[in-house]
Amino acid sequence: MILKNFNNEISQDLKIKVLDFINDLDMGHKKNYDDFLWFLNNINYQLLPIIQEKACLTRNKIYGNSVFIRGLIEISNYCQRNCFYCGIRKSNDKVVRYRYSQDQIISIATQAYQNGYHTIVMQGGEDLYYTDDILKDIIVKIKELCPGIAITLSLGEKNKDSYQNLFDCGVDRYLLRHESASNNHYQKLHPVDMSLANRMNCLHNLKAIGYQAGAGLMIGSPFQTNEDLATDLLFLQNFQPAMIGMGPYMSHVDTPFKNQPNGTLDHILLLYSIARLICPKALIPSTTATSSLDKLGRLKALQSGCNVIMINLSDLDKRQSYTLYNNKSYLGDESHEYLKLIKSDIMKAGMIIDFSVGHNIEMKGNNNG
Ligand code: SF4
Repeated sequence: MILKNFNNEISQDLKIKVLDFINDLDMGHKKNYDDFLWFLNNINYQLLPIIQEKACLTRNKIYGNSVFIRGLIEISNYCQRNCFYCGIRKSNDKVVRYRYSQDQIISIATQAYQNGYHTIVMQGGEDLYYTDDILKDIIVKIKELCPGIAITLSLGEKNKDSYQNLFDCGVDRYLLRHESASNNHYQKLHPVDMSLANRMNCLHNLKAIGYQAGAGLMIGSPFQTNEDLATDLLFLQNFQPAMIGMGPYMSHVDTPFKNQPNGTLDHILLLYSIARLICPKALIPSTTATSSLDKLGRLKALQSGCNVIMINLSDLDKRQSYTLYNNKSYLGDESHEYLKLIKSDIMKAGMIIDFSVGHNIEMKGNNNG
């Protein structure tokens, strides 16, 4: 269990110390593992609004009040892996499997571009059908038909040559959640054929190649402790990902973790804000899982330092089959209806909707390909 003392009252003296810690982070001071653990053991809900406010000020100083909109295509729900928490894991034979053809992906991307989107995120399980050559054909075609578009891939672990090949044909960003930077915890979430060492190796390769590399984790995942989270915060501080994909753990009925409780909204909001202070320049999406947990989740995430929203462009029947967890938000909404809700949340957060390419502030787009 994480943040055990979050709902307990704390003394005035301790409050001052926690606020000093937050101010320190805000000023860019680096922290060590023990510092982060002390913070996680002592942070209290009454201080959350102060941290959220600081996170928003930091975000606005760097990115202004834009919320970058990305078009998400869930290209396949086939996966060769068996992560214990995931609804589309290989062993779940209740999933209706699908994969988009090359033409279908190109068609969705070009239509999105005509509708103003300047980033396409292609996400899927580790589906061996999509070889480097197939992906290359798709990417080159999209870049040719949609000048200036950015492409983000989130297709799992690959070897360094594959990552290099995809970068060479023009992919800009790659999101690979590390899920847990603590080896002990990582092993409790994944089968033995997966290792934290390989995941970290992939992330370092992505960064070295020149991608805007994104890491991330689930908050409140089974067996997670404050010690694990402190390790994650230290990793984020040191790695400085260009993007941070983070959401609450949400259970799925057809997984080994079906009886594990979901994460909680306050915890994920706290972690969004802390991530913003630790990695001020990161692009941080308000994830669908956060909206699924609470109908105000997306708005509150924006009020906690997030600055990206992804809009699902996959067909409705595909979205229904791409359920990493149960009760996924807005499965039944058409994209334009969803966009209306998003616009309203963005306005309420005092921000503006931004369909521009929205690269990480320190990085340019990939002109390869
Ligand atoms: S989390 Fe990703 S790699 Fe793991 S089973 Fe799900 S889709 Fe596959």
